[in-house]
Amino acid sequence: MSTGVYFQLMNPLVFGLFSLGFLGIHHMRPSKSTLVISISYVVGAIAFISDLIFQDSTLLITRVPIAGLYAITTCMLVAALFLHYRGKAPWTVLGGLLVVHLAIYSYLMAIEADWIRSFSANAGCGILASIGLFAFRGKLDRTLDRVTFSILALCCAQSFIRPAIIAVLASGPLTNANHSETTFIFAMHFVVGACAVTMGMCLILVFSQAIFNDLRNNSVTDVLTGINNRRGFDEAGNLVLQNSAAQPVSLILADLDHFKSVNDNYGHAFGDGVIASFGALMGDYARFGRVAGRLGGEEFGLLLPGVPLSMAAELAESIRRRFAAANIQPGEPHDVLTASFGVAQYKKGESLSQLMTRADRALYRSKDCGRDRVTCDSEIPDTAAEPARNLCPATGATVRKLPAKYG
Ligand code: GH3
Ligand code: MG
Ligand code: MG
Repeated sequence: MSTGVYFQLMNPLVFGLFSLGFLGIHHMRPSKSTLVISISYVVGAIAFISDLIFQDSTLLITRVPIAGLYAITTCMLVAALFLHYRGKAPWTVLGGLLVVHLAIYSYLMAIEADWIRSFSANAGCGILASIGLFAFRGKLDRTLDRVTFSILALCCAQSFIRPAIIAVLASGPLTNANHSETTFIFAMHFVVGACAVTMGMCLILVFSQAIFNDLRNNSVTDVLTGINNRRGFDEAGNLVLQNSAAQPVSLILADLDHFKSVNDNYGHAFGDGVIASFGALMGDYARFGRVAGRLGGEEFGLLLPGVPLSMAAELAESIRRRFAAANIQPGEPHDVLTASFGVAQYKKGESLSQLMTRADRALYRSKDCGRDRVTCDSEIPDTAAEPARNLCPATGATVRKLPAKYG
C-alpha cells in the first residue's frame, strides 16, 4: 500500500473513533443531538472509505453518491448543532439544499467541467455547513460556544478557499481523470480531517459541559418539587445577599401544618403529592431573581430581593390563602391543608443562616398561635432579652424552644 493510501485511511479511522466517542456520550446523556452527530461521523467514515475505494472511478454513478455521503455528513453535523442549541433541526432546508447541491454536482460531472466540479463539491458542503452557524444565534455567551462557532466558521471558509487555491496552484489541469492523483485530493483529506477533528473535539467539550450542567442542576434541585433543594437555596440565597447592596431583601419560611397526621391518615404518597403542590406554588413566585427552595421535609423558603418586610408578609399571606384554597384535601371537607409562615427582613451584615433563624422564630410563633397564619419577625421581642412566653394569649401557647438547625 502506498503512503498516500495510508494517509487517506487516517480520516475514516478518526471519523470512526469520533463516532464511537459520541455514541459513548449518548449513552451517558441520551439526546437526539449526540445520536445524530455519532451517525454523522459514521457516514463521514463511509464517505472517505468509498472515496478511497473508487478513487480512480470517474463515473457519475460512483462520484455522485460519494459527494452525497460527504454532504449528508455535513447536513447531520448541522442538524446536531441545531438540535443541541435550538431543540429542533431544519431538516427540510437541509434536505432541499442537499438535493440542489447534488443536482449541480451531477450536471458539472456530466459535462466534465474540470475543477469547477471539485469546487462545487466543496463549496456545496461549505454552504450546507454555514447553515450550522445560525444554530448559535443568541447562544454565544459562553467561551466554549464562541470557540465552536469560530471553528465552524473557519471550516466553512476553507471549503471555498482551499479548492480555489489548489486550482490556481495545481501544476496541470484538474480533470475527472487525474482527480485522485492531484494535490487537490490530498489537501482535501488533510484539511477536512483537521476540521473534523477540531470540530469533534469542540463538540465533545460542548456535550461534556451539558453533562456537567445536568449533574450540577441535579445536585441543587429537589426531585419531588423541581425547585431548589437546601444546597441550591443556600448557594443562590448567598448570592442574592451578596448582591443586595442597598435594596431590602426579605425571607419567607413556610412549614405545612400537622403533616405527620396527613401522612398517617392518607398515606405517604398523598403526602408527597401535597409537598409537590406546595413546591409548585412556591416555584410560581420564584421570578425576578427570587429564590424558592425546599429546605427539608415539608419546609420551604422564598428569598425576595428588593422586597421589604411588609410586602413579603403580604406575599406570604397570598401564598397561605392560595394553598388553603387549593382544594387538595383528600376528600374530607374538614381536612383542609394549611401552612404556617414566618417572615423576616435581612439586616445588613448578617448571614443567610442568621436571617433564616429569625424567620424560623416567626414561623414557630405562627405554629404556636394556632397555625395557618403569617407572622413577621418584627412582631416578636428579642428572645435573648425576654422569655418567649404568653406571646399568643388567645391560645395560651408558648413559643417552642428553637432548634439549632439554622444556627
Ligand atoms: P406542625 O404543624 O407542627 O409542623 O406538625 P407536623 O406534623 O407537620 O410536624 P413536622 O413539621 O415536624 O413534621 C414533618 C413531617 O413531614 C414528618 C414526616 O413524616 C413528613 N415528611 C417529611 N418529608 C416528607 C416527604 O418527603 N414526604 C412525605 N410524604 N412526608 C414527609
Ligand atoms: Mg409541619
Ligand atoms: Mg416541619
